[in-house]
Amino acid sequence: MIARRLLLMAGVAAGVAALIATPAATQDTHANKIKVVAAFSILGDLARNVGGDRVEVTTLVGPNGDAHVYSPTPGDARKLAAANIVFVNGLGLEGWMTRLVTASGTKAPMVLVTKGVTPRHMQDEDKSRRTAIDPHAWQSIADAKIYVANVRDGLVAIDPAGKAIYDANATSYLAKLDELEQEVKAAIDSIPADRRKIITTHDAFGYFGAAYGMAFIAPEGVSTEAEPSAKDVARIITQIKKQKIPAVFLENISDPRLMDQIARETRAIIGGTLYSDALSEPGGPAATYIEMMRHNVREFAKALVG
Ligand SMILES: [Zn+2]
Repeated sequence: MIARRLLLMAGVAAGVAALIATPAATQDTHANKIKVVAAFSILGDLARNVGGDRVEVTTLVGPNGDAHVYSPTPGDARKLAAANIVFVNGLGLEGWMTRLVTASGTKAPMVLVTKGVTPRHMQDEDKSRRTAIDPHAWQSIADAKIYVANVRDGLVAIDPAGKAIYDANATSYLAKLDELEQEVKAAIDSIPADRRKIITTHDAFGYFGAAYGMAFIAPEGVSTEAEPSAKDVARIITQIKKQKIPAVFLENISDPRLMDQIARETRAIIGGTLYSDALSEPGGPAATYIEMMRHNVREFAKALVG
């Protein structure tokens, strides 16, 4: 707990230091809202919660979008050019951002919201390759709280007049995240310890697994990018049986016959849709960060509680 608090404080200090010392307060009247650009939908939601009415948030990678492989548009360059502040995840997620920033000519400070987060490494199927840094830190609510502190400090730095509002908004949102974390822990506790493991083709839950005690197992020898073949599916079936995995969330299998085959031959539960890297459309099951975390943990519990 103390270590976590120190980390959070370090994150706050580093977040401020990360701000480029360019005066970006181009708002000339208070009627003009602070123009915030967030790299993807999850960061956009955090920025909206902290910024409230003082900010106007635009996201580059929208709902259901993939921030790993995004192709920026000329419109994105215009959004960046007009921005007062930009929030990015970093940890290797937005590889497309550097070129976009250059192309846009933006002078807005870029705030790395993961400043102060302890990065994890992704497990690599091919052990000979260097393991990549896992960018999905928001899947740990403790880390999401570091994001929120960095967002708050970034906004205060470019808009000091709004400090009291940003502080109050952040404090109330952080309290909601504390509640959410208790909920998530209680939901995982409701799953028998020996059933807390699933196969998922999404390698996005490393931070979640480490924080809340669940194992996310990659399908052995199956590419997580392409649609698995019948042979891949046979291999997944063997793995499920051997490792006694109670549930699978295989989001890149679109052939219902292959899913039926897995369910029939293994009796593993086929889980529903998870939201890992992007929110759903407004009105969908994961329209905010908090709803996303609730939705996922509900799906895990539904599949794993015996
Ligand atoms: Zn991802």
